[in-house]
Amino acid sequence: MTTQRAERVGDRLAMLGGGRSVPRDVRIPAWPIVTGEEREAVRRVLDSGRFTCASSGEQEIPALEAEWAAHVGSNHCVAVSNGTAAIAIALAAAGVRPGDEVIVPALSFVATAMAPLHVLATPVFVDIDPDGFNMSPAAIQAAMTARTRAIIVVHLHGLPADMDEVRAIAARHGVVVVEDAAQAQGARYRGSPVGSLGDIGTFSLNVSKNLATCGEGGLITTDDASYAARARMLRQFGESATTGGERSYVSHMLGWNNKPNALQAAFTRSLLARFPAELEQRDHNIRRMLSRITELPGYLTPASPADRTHSWHILRFRVLPSAFGLEDGMAGPLRAAVQRALRAEGVPASPYQLMPLPAQPFFRERRGYGDHRWPITGVGYREEDFPHTTRVIEDSFTIQKAHLHPDAGPLLDRYADAFEKVWRHREVIRAYAIEMPYRPPWERAAEIAAGEWLEAFGG
Ligand SMILES: *Cc1c(COP(=O)(O)O)cnc(C)c1O
Repeated sequence: MTTQRAERVGDRLAMLGGGRSVPRDVRIPAWPIVTGEEREAVRRVLDSGRFTCASSGEQEIPALEAEWAAHVGSNHCVAVSNGTAAIAIALAAAGVRPGDEVIVPALSFVATAMAPLHVLATPVFVDIDPDGFNMSPAAIQAAMTARTRAIIVVHLHGLPADMDEVRAIAARHGVVVVEDAAQAQGARYRGSPVGSLGDIGTFSLNVSKNLATCGEGGLITTDDASYAARARMLRQFGESATTGGERSYVSHMLGWNNKPNALQAAFTRSLLARFPAELEQRDHNIRRMLSRITELPGYLTPASPADRTHSWHILRFRVLPSAFGLEDGMAGPLRAAVQRALRAEGVPASPYQLMPLPAQPFFRERRGYGDHRWPITGVGYREEDFPHTTRVIEDSFTIQKAHLHPDAGPLLDRYADAFEKVWRHREVIRAYAIEMPYRPPWERAAEIAAGEWLEAFGG
């Protein structure tokens, strides 16, 4: 064996039996961080005996609402039970009615597009812009009809959408802008925090998000006093209850029970105190990793235009077939090969969304209200109707959660080592991509879905 070959063997891909770039003892730090302060905050609520916003004298929930409103720079904040409820309540509070059309992106978490259906409105899907993964303003414009009542703009993965353009379209057509900022707490667009950029904003405090509770939670922000008042009623059976005051038990409108929980509010308040410092440290860690990966011609790293800050909730990387000497049509197999190689190196590379949202079996079959089928308007519910979304799903993978902890810097440096190593072995990856059996993620997902449906419901 020549010296050169011996070195190559030492550098061999972990997928082919070489050593890992990320040593096994370098662990992913747990998220969210739970310290003595969070335990103390939760104990404070347990000792108070006041557990929801309907408990007389409850203080943690209004305190969280005031602190988050100040953080976002909006006049009002209403806490609710989760981020999905936040979107449905925001739509209802902003006057979306049954039969109205609500524009949503084809690439997001499914909750974004389920929420309109919960208020009997119709989601109209639009394609994304493949550079930033957010809704394309041109596609929004093309989807506007006389029935359009709202646009739910998602700041996907933590990158604020093109809000000036979205607002301009909304203003021309007189429709409401709802920001789904579930993934973007702390992100800014031209200096302003997300959640203050539309008519009403929603956040999730799910345990997986950048600002979390010890479970589930959601926040709604708005400058509009009537939207806020309605949201407060909608979360509690349509009652006109003042938070922490005596309960009337008089229902003025159809509402839900989506009250927040005081234990979780206290927990989140405790995290909120550390939130700005963590955001800064995370930004620093991630930029250091990305600056190395950006040097490698085979990968496209997440964009962060100068006029906005990214909150880095999810990191999405695309692969470039031409850089690996492959035809463009090989993007899917190449991504699968790179993903497999990175996973073997110890990088938790995973997909986020296996298909455009409208291609989810539930949307395609319109299963929701028994025999009732909501109308399909706009382009349709097939993968091929959303070319940029399908392309991005095929040619990209994500890193989720592992990078959130402010002490994840050294771990992310090892991840960058792994990206570099895989790129050094691009010839091996190329050959692997050509040989591996491959089907697009949505085809595999559709088969799984069909099988599970048969199993659960017998056909
Ligand atoms: C997480 C998430 C939601 C839903 O939040 P839950 O608190 O889990 O209900 C909605 N939209 C997006 C984009 C999300 O990532």
